[in-house]
Parts: sequence; structure tokens; C-alpha cells
Amino acid sequence: MFHYGGHPAVVDTFCPAFRCPVGDKTHYSLRNANNLSLIKANHVKTYNSFVPKSIRDWNGMGVIKNSSTLEGFKTRYKRENFRKPNKIFNMDHNGGNVYLTRLRLGLSALSDHLYTHNIIDDPICKLCHLENETVAHYLLRCPNFARQRAIFLSGLLEIINADYLSTLRDNDIVNLFLFGDSEFPYQSNLELNKISQTYIIDSKRF
Ligand SMILES: [Zn+2]
Repeated sequence: MFHYGGHPAVVDTFCPAFRCPVGDKTHYSLRNANNLSLIKANHVKTYNSFVPKSIRDWNGMGVIKNSSTLEGFKTRYKRENFRKPNKIFNMDHNGGNVYLTRLRLGLSALSDHLYTHNIIDDPICKLCHLENETVAHYLLRCPNFARQRAIFLSGLLEIINADYLSTLRDNDIVNLFLFGDSEFPYQSNLELNKISQTYIIDSKRF
């Protein structure tokens, strides 16, 4: 936590002692030699506050905290804690990526998303009033987008075969629409991303 310098010396006075001074006195390489002593917390509020929480996070980091340089620490920390972003998610087709991203995050202007975030009172589709305007309704069932849907599905059939498509449930197709499929080749995911964004732009729903 405070190993790497670059901070005022006074900060060190607030740093808890290492749990295992015995590490200095023996030749044993104890696993907790680099752990910080936990601060006694009698209340949940104290236990969950910044410093005790940071000490627990630090102690729970495993061998990363034994890194000898700050750069090494950062690299190993990132490797273990950050997943590589899906390259497909950066691909934009005619400005559709921003809307597709919002749909992935559940933060779009679909009534169901707005209702979930308490922005509107009713999740029903305002265009057809047949059911809640979920992503599945918008993509697969809303009568207002039949033409765009036909184009999307015919594009889908160029990526996956009809037999496979017939085995997919609505949610599976929605997942293909939103995220692609990591089992597919990169080029197929690229195509999928393109037809998804074309659907969104063509629908003029957002
Ligand atoms: Zn509708």
C-alpha cells in the first residue's frame, strides 16, 4: 500500500505495522510477511470504512503485493483484475454503437429500461401497447419494426444456419444481437455487430 514511495513521509506514520515482524527475525519466508496488521474495529461502520477495507484488500492480494517495482505491481494487478475488452464492442457502424452499448447496459430509452430506473411509470411499449418494451420485444416482436427485423434475420442466416437458428430461444437471439458469441469466429462477430447496429439505426427508435 505504501511500499512504493512518491508520497509524503508523514503518510508512513499512519501506515499500520506489518503483521509479521518475525519475518525480519527468522529465515522463514512466511506468506503473511507482507500483510499489514488489521485495525481493530468494534463497529460495522468502522470495519467497512476506507482504511480497514484497504488493509483487507491489500492483505487479500496474494503474491502481487510482493512485486518489487510499482510498474510490476500495476501490470500484475491489471492482468488479474481487468478483463480484456471485447474488440467487437469498439466497432461502430453509422453511429449505431452508442445505442447498442446502451442496450447492453440496460440504459437505453426502451420503456422497460426507463421503468427499471424509475424514470417512467409504465414499461409498456408505447408504439404497439402489446407488452413491455424489453430488448426482446424491440428486436423480435414489436410490429413496428417488422421490415427491419426481416433484414436482421436474413443477415443472421448468413452467419448461422437455419437449423441452428431454429433451436435458439428469444433470449439467445437477444444475446447474439447484443454481445455476439465468443464461440464464433471474429469475422462472424463483426458481421453480427454490423447487422445489430443496422437494425438499431434503421428502426429510428432512439
Ligand atoms: Zn412494441
